[in-house]
Amino acid sequence: MKTLKDRILKDGKCYPGGILKVDNFINHQMDPILMKSIGVEFVRRFASTSINKIITVEASGIAPAIMVGYLLELPVVFAKKKKPSTMEVTSVYSFTKQRSYDVCVSKDFLAPGDQVLFIDDFLANGNAAKGIMDLVKQAGAELVGMGFIIEKAFQHGGDELRSQGIHVESLAIIESLDNCEIKIR
Ligand code: 5GP
Repeated sequence: MKTLKDRILKDGKCYPGGILKVDNFINHQMDPILMKSIGVEFVRRFASTSINKIITVEASGIAPAIMVGYLLELPVVFAKKKKPSTMEVTSVYSFTKQRSYDVCVSKDFLAPGDQVLFIDDFLANGNAAKGIMDLVKQAGAELVGMGFIIEKAFQHGGDELRSQGIHVESLAIIESLDNCEIKIR
């Protein structure tokens, strides 16, 4: 997606350890016009997929997920990182925070028969994605695809998910952040 790639090159910042900061248009300040275009592009890429619900993880996935849900007129569920007592929980390792955390979704909002599309801001090692796969499986629902705004190809989460036959779409793929230079595929 050209507008997104241009924006990453213009406003993205590299941090040591392979971290890309996009705080001025995705992760802190948000650009709703770009976010709408991101939603439109996800809808186009998953047009042939039967979906009845969008799932994401709080907080950064909510903006792109709500755009997709709005355009498709489907409900959006975000997995919570603080556990209320009655929910299924799965543990996810956070690459940026270097520790594990639990995510959970209520049985009321993820159930057998649901065909869910997972939307998130970043795909790195794929731990958040695997956590969501686990939650979807526990709920007896079906995961029909995963869409990411930015995939960091050098961390190989995408390879792993695609090799499992999952339909993965990433709108910008970062080849490398070596020497703090952003290289986009
Ligand atoms: P994964 O679970 O695939 O290893 O990492 C994905 C999650 O970690 C994303 O939801 C995102 O919040 C965070 N993340 C991973 N890499 C980056 C990065 O380079 N920049 C930012 N801002 N977040 C990242």
